[in-house]
Amino acid sequence: MPSPNVKIRGESGPPHAPAILTINLSAIRANYRLLAERARPAKCAAVVKADAYGLGIGPVAKALVEEGCNTFFVAFLDEGIELRAKAPSSEIFVFSGPFPGEEDAYTANKLVPVLNSLSQARLWAATATKSGTVMAGLHIDTGMSRLGLPRDEIETLLQDSTLLKRIEFKAVMSHLACSDTPEHRKNAEQLRIFSDVTSKFPGIPASLAASSGIFLSPDFHFEMVRPGAGIFGVAPNKTERNVLQQVVNLQAQILQVRDVDSPDTVGYGAAHYVSGPMRIATIGVGYADGYMRSLGGMGMAWAGKTPLPVVGRISMDLITLDISQAPQLDAGDTVELIGPNRTVDMVAEEAGTIGYEILTSLGRRYRRRYVETAP
Ligand SMILES: *Cc1c(COP(=O)(O)O)cnc(C)c1O
Repeated sequence: MPSPNVKIRGESGPPHAPAILTINLSAIRANYRLLAERARPAKCAAVVKADAYGLGIGPVAKALVEEGCNTFFVAFLDEGIELRAKAPSSEIFVFSGPFPGEEDAYTANKLVPVLNSLSQARLWAATATKSGTVMAGLHIDTGMSRLGLPRDEIETLLQDSTLLKRIEFKAVMSHLACSDTPEHRKNAEQLRIFSDVTSKFPGIPASLAASSGIFLSPDFHFEMVRPGAGIFGVAPNKTERNVLQQVVNLQAQILQVRDVDSPDTVGYGAAHYVSGPMRIATIGVGYADGYMRSLGGMGMAWAGKTPLPVVGRISMDLITLDISQAPQLDAGDTVELIGPNRTVDMVAEEAGTIGYEILTSLGRRYRRRYVETAP
């Protein structure tokens, strides 16, 4: 419901969409400020891979730059190129690092590759001119067995003075496997390995914590933190109350209302059986829009404070709701799918996934509305 203290900053997506996704830029800003404050004196970068977790790299990067964020991380080269156009004077790291043939694209767009292996270090060092150096991040693996240099490659790198002379490391980083579970012993184990390795790279800013890591002890902060999901309101862990603000709100229009009074079934597979009178609303959102099929018979929409259970399966474009408790609802009215009553994390929990997947699955068929709210 647009109120006078909500300012629309931009709209995109199909103009006649039956569902509106509102993205609150003020909440994004407030979350960034809170994370940065918590991590101080460490610097707070922002991870905006996957189109800023599905929320739109353009408006998100603009808001973060205005909050003073000057360092970004993306996953892939093309994301870096896209972001460069939107954040001309920010430092942009690319997690995947360079592959043969991509060197010029990195250089032309002033992107800083994160080097994940010795072979990437060699490839990148070769782009340095005879007298000059090239900038890079260095990712070391402290226990994810995913990206990053393993122990033996770090030793080889440390002994290769030619390589070390050619590359100016802007950051040495690693990633935590279990930071959303503060009591997990893996956290301390990775911290110990990371501290040990970074002591061999004196003077280079170290970075270990993503969103959840910021909520572990300050020992995990080092010189730079790299939150992504927390900026977009996802809870850092289940241990504490989520101090971050919700960023997205999804409202869907009722397309049709049906009164079922004789026994009948609802939707595909006749999966829901109606035995008595029930009022059913069909809304124009489905699994093609990122409302997971696993939410069939489990999800919940809301009309104000009245819960409207999802009945039957989720279709590609449609969801059926039991609106018997809100009989005033009719075609054209809107209901809430994500919002004050159902956070991204709650929807994720019901769907058997995590908030990250709900955000990055939000569909392209929504009308997207970027707003700022007065405090
Ligand atoms: C995605 C990612 C981040 C951000 O993680 P969040 O949990 O979203 O804060 C940080 N570092 C690396 C290496 C990542 O892949």
